[in-house]
Amino acid sequence: MVCPICKNNQYSQTLFIKDYEYNINSREKYLNCSSCNLIYRDSYIEEKDEEILYSKSEYTPVKGGFIYDFLKTINAYYEKKVILKHVFNGKPDKKTTVLDIACGKGYLLRVLKKNTNINCFGIDINTTKNTDGVQYIQSSYKNLRAIKKINADIIIINNFIEHVEDLKHIFDIIKSAKKDSIFIIITPNSDSKARVFFKNCWSGYHAPRHKMIFNISNIEQAFNKCKSIDIESHKMHDPFTNIISVINLYKELKNSFSLLIFLKLIISPIFIFTNLMNKNRIVLIIKKNK
Ligand SMILES: [Zn+2]
Repeated sequence: MVCPICKNNQYSQTLFIKDYEYNINSREKYLNCSSCNLIYRDSYIEEKDEEILYSKSEYTPVKGGFIYDFLKTINAYYEKKVILKHVFNGKPDKKTTVLDIACGKGYLLRVLKKNTNINCFGIDINTTKNTDGVQYIQSSYKNLRAIKKINADIIIINNFIEHVEDLKHIFDIIKSAKKDSIFIIITPNSDSKARVFFKNCWSGYHAPRHKMIFNISNIEQAFNKCKSIDIESHKMHDPFTNIISVINLYKELKNSFSLLIFLKLIISPIFIFTNLMNKNRIVLIIKKNK
């Protein structure tokens, strides 16, 4: 397979990443493009298999859980702060419609809705009951008609672009969005120190679900082909995903003992602490021109 961004067929590294969260016995091949440095899954996941990978009874972001929901909600307050800072300089001063694509359980939307100036919509293949003033639509992100109907001012794609098999679908959403609308794309950064420390156990791979793991330069390169837009990139903190990486280390150790993994697990609290100040996630802001 060629690199989905720069179409180069050379790669500097081949990685075999286990599915730590759901089936440690399966592993997926990822390639690191030697030209743009994108890390991408070598295979294509069919739509029928997506249903199994994201099933409501198995997939944590849909299933949730007491601790998971608690941490996601705390994180959503931080995400809201970052979004408001970059889009409204802190506070929306006029009525704004926000659409979160692949919103999962809607943690971020529920927090955004606390601001009465914001109308919140979420689209996801799994259903969520309309609560706390947020309206959910059960649909795929490929349903352009449903997305267009909402006519959002701000479209959020949070922790989702890395799952998309073909970026063409995202480009189509940008193309069909109204002038002056703003896209906020939040995704793991492959340049993060956590990827170096946790190696194949890094939660940013989330194999086989993540298709592409970007850095700032190649995500900008990917969107540069969209017309009439301005792109800005920023970074944000991401402390909770390091906890998932530590859990992955523990699962790896339980599966097959290795002294190196054992030592890494012991020192991981120190790493997490020193990594707290690093910003490991990309925030890409795309503004459609007037
Ligand atoms: Zn490339």
